[in-house]
Amino acid sequence: MSDAMHRPNATSGIRQAIFDYASTRLDYDPTPLDGPRTNAELLALAGQTITEEGLGGEKALGVFAEVLAPATISTDHPNYLSFIPAAPTKAATLFDLVVSASSIYGGSWKEGAGAVYAENQVLAFLAKECGLPATAGGVFVQGGTLGNLSALVVARDQAIEKHGRKNWAIICSSEAHSSVKAVAKVMDVAVVQGDASATGSMGKAAALAALASAEAQGLTPFAIIGTAGTTNFGILDDLAGIAQVAQEHELWYHVDGAYGLAGILAPELKDLYAGIEKADSFIVDPHKWLYAPFDACALVYAKPELARATHTQHGEYLETLNHSGDFNPSDHAFNLTRRVRGLPLWFSLATHGIAAYREAISENVLLTRKIADEIKSRDYLKLVREPQLSVVVFERLGWVQKDYDHWSQELLESQFAFVVPSSHQGKVNTRFAIVNPSTKHEDLVQILETMRYR
Ligand SMILES: *Cc1c(COP(=O)(O)O)cnc(C)c1O
Repeated sequence: MSDAMHRPNATSGIRQAIFDYASTRLDYDPTPLDGPRTNAELLALAGQTITEEGLGGEKALGVFAEVLAPATISTDHPNYLSFIPAAPTKAATLFDLVVSASSIYGGSWKEGAGAVYAENQVLAFLAKECGLPATAGGVFVQGGTLGNLSALVVARDQAIEKHGRKNWAIICSSEAHSSVKAVAKVMDVAVVQGDASATGSMGKAAALAALASAEAQGLTPFAIIGTAGTTNFGILDDLAGIAQVAQEHELWYHVDGAYGLAGILAPELKDLYAGIEKADSFIVDPHKWLYAPFDACALVYAKPELARATHTQHGEYLETLNHSGDFNPSDHAFNLTRRVRGLPLWFSLATHGIAAYREAISENVLLTRKIADEIKSRDYLKLVREPQLSVVVFERLGWVQKDYDHWSQELLESQFAFVVPSSHQGKVNTRFAIVNPSTKHEDLVQILETMRYR
């Protein structure tokens, strides 16, 4: 039978083993950190896995469990402190399995109504938390890069409508995320940066200077980005000051909170986000600091109808959806077919409640401050900047790049931690990005100890 591999009994021999594997993974405390292998090593160990006859589920799962999975770093290990880690709740991870088993098409209301309703509840909660109007709405896309692109394409469409075609520019901070330049490249527009070198935060004066500089270059700014938590330092721009600039100069105001917007849930941090209520659009990645699995970015517009005007795709086969008047998530971003990737966060939020999130985020911030104090107390370390959210950047005095590289390699090889070098203004440093509620102060102190001698 040609439908043999689609029959419910197709996995009878392996289904339990797969559930058991997933279950074991969820029970690890902590997860094994693991680490990369070379392609040659993997070829030697795993060999050719795609064959005409198939390996059979048992063997294929064995290859994954014994060779492939250990050759990936577990981003949810409590001592994975590089880049921005991931720390999905168990509820969110479990529900990702349900999403996979459900084949829900999340592009249209007609096909995905129940799931889209749940996703929209999460988006409405985030919009409300940020003080956007009740009519705000949007969609979960794959990641912050795509979220930024989708919002800025809407922004440019609005500007074209008002001013015709120009040499467009995006204004953002010199500490804005790399994706802004990537987005500008795709859009064929310029990026003009406001200087944030002194504090890590772009204020009103720097934003105005960037605007003037853009205009002097013959560029027409159409959007200004406020970063709600830079990736390298976790520092916020002056969101209220930038909102004023946006208003006075009729610019689209986009807030990039891919990592840091989650901090708004912590009551003691809320004031840092003043001004975000004026945003035309914002993003936040649940896979960063909202404890959801990869990959999800919540993209919210104050006026979602503007996004629909830009992003709705038209085709003979699609008009039945477009004419329905329904809320179709795909119309709000550069995408069509979509996984209902907001559901793992929905399930976890629905299960645990918002208060549990506020508490977990506050604890991450508290731990960050505590380890920053520890860093300041050690004479061989230097805190580069006082942390605002949950990233702390510091130097080991006297070290050069290769010292950091060796130290980082040793930490991973010993399976204790994954901490990589970073840099700031040409000077090498390292950083802890803390988004995992299982990260322990003692372990962070022990990592600092490993930097004492070399
Ligand atoms: C991570 C990040 C992005 C990009 O998000 P991805 O999900 O990695 O595409 C954009 N902006 C900021 C501030 C980020 O931290």
